[in-house]
Amino acid sequence: MSRPSSARIDLDALRHNYATARKLHGRKVLAVLKADAYGHGAVRCALALAGMADGFAVAFLSEAMELRAAGVTAPILLLEGAFDGEELKVAARHALAVVVHHESQLRMLESARGLAGTLDVWLKMDSGMGRAGMAPEAMRAGFARLQACPAVAEVVLMSHFARADEPGMSTTAKQLAAFQAACGGLDARASLANSAGILAWPEACRSWGRAGIMLYGADPLPPTYRQAPLQPVMTLQSQVFAERLLPPGAPLGYGGGFVAERPTRVGLVALGYADGYPRSAPADTPVAIEGHAARLIGRVSMDMLTVDLTDLPACGIGSKVELWGRTIDVNQVAAGAGTIAYELLCNVKRVPRVYE
Ligand code: PLP
Repeated sequence: MSRPSSARIDLDALRHNYATARKLHGRKVLAVLKADAYGHGAVRCALALAGMADGFAVAFLSEAMELRAAGVTAPILLLEGAFDGEELKVAARHALAVVVHHESQLRMLESARGLAGTLDVWLKMDSGMGRAGMAPEAMRAGFARLQACPAVAEVVLMSHFARADEPGMSTTAKQLAAFQAACGGLDARASLANSAGILAWPEACRSWGRAGIMLYGADPLPPTYRQAPLQPVMTLQSQVFAERLLPPGAPLGYGGGFVAERPTRVGLVALGYADGYPRSAPADTPVAIEGHAARLIGRVSMDMLTVDLTDLPACGIGSKVELWGRTIDVNQVAAGAGTIAYELLCNVKRVPRVYE
């Protein structure tokens, strides 16, 4: 008998979410497929969006090459901005655009010889995140240098938001203003908005959006904010494979932190933290068993977790358990576990993906 655990991937929902991003952004949108499409399978997601997405973004070269090898011909941007001279050659050969955020990379492009083609460069400014990116004056100077560079085709100006998922924050408005001021007078296309930017900051929607998490149906904005019409793409599911009856006072699982307060019917579910379900999920984290609201009890183990079946007499061995997806919001599981949906989705690697 094969293990009854899988991540079901709804490619229609992915297409719906991309169309939503495109409509809200109003202009072109890169579908961000890094980290194996946030755990959804980059090749399958790219193929599902072929002919629809304006382009794709991944973190680094090998992720892009996986897409090219699968026949993806759309523009691909390497977001991480870490490459050497050899990788630049491969990028040029395969029409991959690169992010440049550092003087050493400018020099690498200026001295590049014998590339198989020209490259599009996305020149990144630090508008206030404090991570990768050039200071405004350095970006303006870099823009002029790249325009004079034979290896370079188009230069797109970009920046990245630190707190766009906090709609009330002045940080994003400040980042926008800093970027706008630095771009003044430069004749270039620009890119600012990630998912939260697309959803909450219409003024950040420039020539190119870069949508990641919203494509997968997880809204990055707080639940108190207007929720976008997104559809969950991944449903992480398994089955109850055994059940136990615990008497009151009996501990359950590693650490014995959960102690039954009443006669408790425990369902053992074939999915654990090695499958990407967070070990830090506390007891009472919601799960859906055959569509009924239920809860996690006991600590999550490597290959299994435990749920409370006491109030679900019709459920038992063989019952289907949804850990997140259409019924259980991955954001809610993430918040309970002290993390974000991005991390939970990216960690789904061991269970087979079933595409629908
Ligand atoms: N742009 C850049 C530079 C990123 O690093 C990322 C993801 O981390 C994105 C866009 C997509 O962000 P999100 O998943 O929040 O839409």
